[in-house]
Parts: sequence; C-alpha cells; structure tokens
Amino acid sequence: MGDLATLVRQTLDEVAASTTLAALDEVRVRWLGKKGLFTEQLKALGALPAAERPAAGARINEAKQALQSAIDAATEKLAAAAIEAELAAGRIDVSLPGRGEARGAVHPVTRARLRIESIFRNSGFEVASGPEIEDDFHNFEALNIPADHPARAMHDTFYFPDGRLLRTHTSPVQIRELRKGRLPLAMIMPGRVYRCDYDMTHSPMFHQAEGLVVDENVSFAHLKATLQGFLQAFFEKELRMRLRPSYFPFTEPSAEVDMSCVFCDGAGCRVCKHTGWLEIAGCGMVHPNVFKAAGVDGERWTGYAFGMGIERLAMLRYGVNDLRLFFDSDLRFLSQFGAA
Ligand SMILES: [Zn+2]
Repeated sequence: MGDLATLVRQTLDEVAASTTLAALDEVRVRWLGKKGLFTEQLKALGALPAAERPAAGARINEAKQALQSAIDAATEKLAAAAIEAELAAGRIDVSLPGRGEARGAVHPVTRARLRIESIFRNSGFEVASGPEIEDDFHNFEALNIPADHPARAMHDTFYFPDGRLLRTHTSPVQIRELRKGRLPLAMIMPGRVYRCDYDMTHSPMFHQAEGLVVDENVSFAHLKATLQGFLQAFFEKELRMRLRPSYFPFTEPSAEVDMSCVFCDGAGCRVCKHTGWLEIAGCGMVHPNVFKAAGVDGERWTGYAFGMGIERLAMLRYGVNDLRLFFDSDLRFLSQFGAA
C-alpha cells in the first residue's frame, strides 16, 4: 500500500497529458475500470490483516475519488475546448452585409396579359386558350375567310408543309369555344399569334387578347360599355372612346376602337401623332356565318367580339416606345418591371 501515493501521482500525470477526450477515457478505463489498477488494489485488501483493512480501504477510495474528479475536470475542459475550436473554424461575421437575393421580374407583356385577364375575370369573363398550331378551318374558313378571300393575303401566314399553320390571330379560339356548345358565354382569350412580318413596329410573334360574349339580346351597346370599362380599368384613368366603322370578315357590323391619348389626354402629342386618339382594338358583332360554322343558332343568340394587341397595351401602359425592347431579352430593361 506504500506506493498508493506514487500511483495517484502517476495517474494524475497521465490525466494532465491527455489532450483528447478519447485519450482521457483510456486513462479512466485503465485505472478505474472493472479491471483497472485501483480496482485491483481494492481486491488486494482481502490479504491484509482485518485491523488494517478499513483504513487502507478508505485511503484507496479517497485516491479513487481524487482521480475521478481530476478526470471529470479534464473532460469538461477538453469538451469546452472542442466547442471553442468548432466555433472558431465556422466563424460567422454577423456584422457583414447580406448578399441579397436578385428578384426576378415578370415580363411586361406577361404583366399586361395578367392585368387584362384579371380585369375581365372581375367582370365575370372566363379565360380560355387554344393551340398555336391551327388548321385552315379554325384560323380562316370558320371565321368567314374562305380560300379565295382577299383578307388571307393580309395575314402573312406561316404554313407547315402539311397545310397546317401558325395561327395568325386568337380568333380560332372563338370557334373552338363556340363549338363546345356551352352558351351563354363570356370569354377572354389571350395568346401568341404569328405573322410573317418583321420591322420596327412588327414582330413575327406577338400577343393578342380576344374577347367574346354570346348571349340572348347582346347588342353593340354592351360591346361599347365593356370596352370602355376595360380601357379605363387598364389605364386607370377616365378615357373617351370612339368607334370608327371598319371591316373584318368575322364581324358585322365591325368597328375600330380609338381611345383618347393616355399621354396627352387628347390634346395631341408625338405618341398620338397629334390627333389626340390612339387605335387600340378591333371589334364587332359576331358574323352570322361564324355562328353557322360553329353550329350556333344565330336566330336565338347574338354576340360581340373584340381583339387587342397585348404589346400595344403594354407599350402604352408602361411608356415603352420601341416594340423590339420586348423581345431583346435585355435584363436592364426587363428588370424595371418588378414582380407581378
Ligand atoms: Zn397624345
């Protein structure tokens, strides 16, 4: 038992020399474990004379406790150091400014389309769409534009070898919806259309929004009120509107829609070419031949239709003076429009 003090000193040295938690645990097992050297010492007590046993046992337990406290203290210190090291390695400077998220923007044409849809939805219109690759029947024939009709020449159509075509207007969606036979109906039909035409004011692909209302006793007065209400909601200002007699194969009578210039309120400016008016849409009452082609009873139902260029509406609403900006994919331009 004389060397107990030496043993304690030796173990304390080992504890002090342990630089990792694993090494410390090895020391603990070697000395205090079931087969540890201190446990062996306790077992050896049996060999001592009975009178000496209690004192010797107490000394051994005291030494064990001292050792256990030394190990506990060292464990705590090493664990704290490990946390410190982890914090130092993954340091975050909370005073740094954030990197910021680049926010995407909605394309102005999409933005205008969503705005058109939302205004018409609020007045009870449904939104419908149709295929961009069309056949002759839906794009021309059913819209009262037969094969020999001069209006076909104005359409500059892209044809596929099999006779199908890229739709030249959104009007074929009217035919598709009418043929479903669900009447009455009130619909707005926005979408891409294609014409073989490209210059400063024309793009081979552009967007139209087509409106169609079919019910009993629908009149030109309804059409006029709907368009005026829409334009005022879209541009958020009081506008004057005028209808000029015109011609479209699929409506009769037909009219061009002008509205007072949104930039000069009719006083005359460069945008309206000093007339005070801006052409904004075409419209008319659905032609009996269109109803016939779509299988609608023209004796019972009447309807009106109108069509507008979405780029034109977007240019006037956002003050964009060059159509090509919409298709150049220049982020400096596009990012000005923000999220929807
Ligand atoms: Zn003007």
